[in-house]
Amino acid sequence: MTYPTQPTASHFVNGAYLEDTTGTPLPVIYPATGHEIARLYMATPAVIEQALNAAKQAQAEWAALSGTERGRILRRAADMIRDRNHELSELETYDTGKPLQETLVADATSGADALEYFGGLAGSLTGEHIPLGDGNWAYTMREALGVCVGIGAWNYPTQIACWKAAPALACGNAMVFKPSETTPLCALKVAEILHEAGLPAGLFNVVQGAGEVGRSLVTDARVDKVSLTGSVPTGRKVYAAAAAEMKHVTMELGGKSPLVVFDDADIEDAVGGAILGNFYSSGQVCSNGTRVFVQKGIKEAFLTRLSERLRDAVIGDPMDEATSFGPMVSAGQLGIVERYIAKGQEEGARLVTGGKRLERDGFFIEPTVFADVSDDMVIAQEEIFGPVMCVLDFDDEAEVLARANETEFGLAAGVFTRDLARAHRMVAGFQAGTCFINSYNDAPVEMPFGGVKASGVGRENSKAAIEHYSQLKSVFVRMDAVEAPF
Ligand code: NDP
Repeated sequence: MTYPTQPTASHFVNGAYLEDTTGTPLPVIYPATGHEIARLYMATPAVIEQALNAAKQAQAEWAALSGTERGRILRRAADMIRDRNHELSELETYDTGKPLQETLVADATSGADALEYFGGLAGSLTGEHIPLGDGNWAYTMREALGVCVGIGAWNYPTQIACWKAAPALACGNAMVFKPSETTPLCALKVAEILHEAGLPAGLFNVVQGAGEVGRSLVTDARVDKVSLTGSVPTGRKVYAAAAAEMKHVTMELGGKSPLVVFDDADIEDAVGGAILGNFYSSGQVCSNGTRVFVQKGIKEAFLTRLSERLRDAVIGDPMDEATSFGPMVSAGQLGIVERYIAKGQEEGARLVTGGKRLERDGFFIEPTVFADVSDDMVIAQEEIFGPVMCVLDFDDEAEVLARANETEFGLAAGVFTRDLARAHRMVAGFQAGTCFINSYNDAPVEMPFGGVKASGVGRENSKAAIEHYSQLKSVFVRMDAVEAPF
């Protein structure tokens, strides 16, 4: 199959597409059919070498430009992405299987937001003047880190590439990005557009491959920073490898986030939040609120309305804009979800709706809701990364807060209630990096995004990301005489 936006080679290195067919073949599978739609090749050591060299060589000159000049290129790329949103959204759908209804509004557009935001910020990145005693003073300079490696998960391939590239480039770094082997296409288009927008060669390179390619990037001496979006086990490995060389890291990892619904909540909004926080992108979202704690008084009303609204989900061809629920990204991920659903039934949770694979090509499974889930069940403890919602009951605020925090993860948390004092008390108590009041899963570029505990280190988006892609140099300036002891 060919499609209009198809990248023309496996890698994008030093400002151009690059092919090396001696690498291990990497078939690209369209999740909605299970058919191969493209064949790429994983990066050989020679490709990795070229990418790292190109990044290293290009970085210093890029960092020497003014922030305004760097930002102009990023903002131009943002405009180009918006102009091409439809074709890029189709490519995102081919890569991931997510419905076009979603990709048209959540992927290339989110990537463009990041490029526009950090492009706008680039000219205002400055140090500070620090007055000291006796007329002496100090100043700080905000400097680039150097070469950054970005490693992406498969759920948001365009967005992840842009969320990493935009702050890295705004701060004057170069990047070598490795997409997930499951979704290798979209980052190539991001690279192509950045260079069409005027980004000098070598500053954003894309190399394909699996964990092995990621490992060799993370451990390379030319690399100053690693930003990973992935699972907690991978995060532990990558963080450890980076730490051995004292490299900077950003870790955006998994979660098992709580979504707490009090009995005074607007049920329609709470059900909507729970749907967004469990079934958008077929549940393949790191910050999903997959432990839905519902106060006992409204539990049955909540489940009834949830089941009714789930019947309105349109499951099918992701390219049809009427479709609102697509397949899982891969046969492997589908298998994981099926095993968790079987486990939930085995553990005695009540299957309220869904649970079955669809009898059609592709990796489709129904949106699934379990009720009467207890905290000790495996389905309530482990990240499933699929469309499986666990509904748990609770009596009061103190109890639910303690149970919500009883997890190694800390990515996100949400609360639905009309009592705003209680909402803020809950948020203050949540052990989570990103919280929502009467909403779920909003991720505007202006707001820091990231986790605490095992869910990660550092923040993406917002001004906070600048801290993670730059470093300060402090300069003491003596204006009076130097007093030495001898
Ligand atoms: P993985 O952790 O399996 O992989 C993430 C990336 O790391 C992939 O590109 C993978 O390569 C690469 N990788 C694997 N092993 C190594 C290694 N030893 N060294 C360097 N790189 C390596 O995650 P998934 O792709 O399965 O994505 C799902 C996970 O991502 C979930 O846990 C989810 O919660 C999390 N996630 C977190 C987000 C956040 O912002 N907090 C957002 C989205 C997802 P390859 O897969 O090609 O082998």
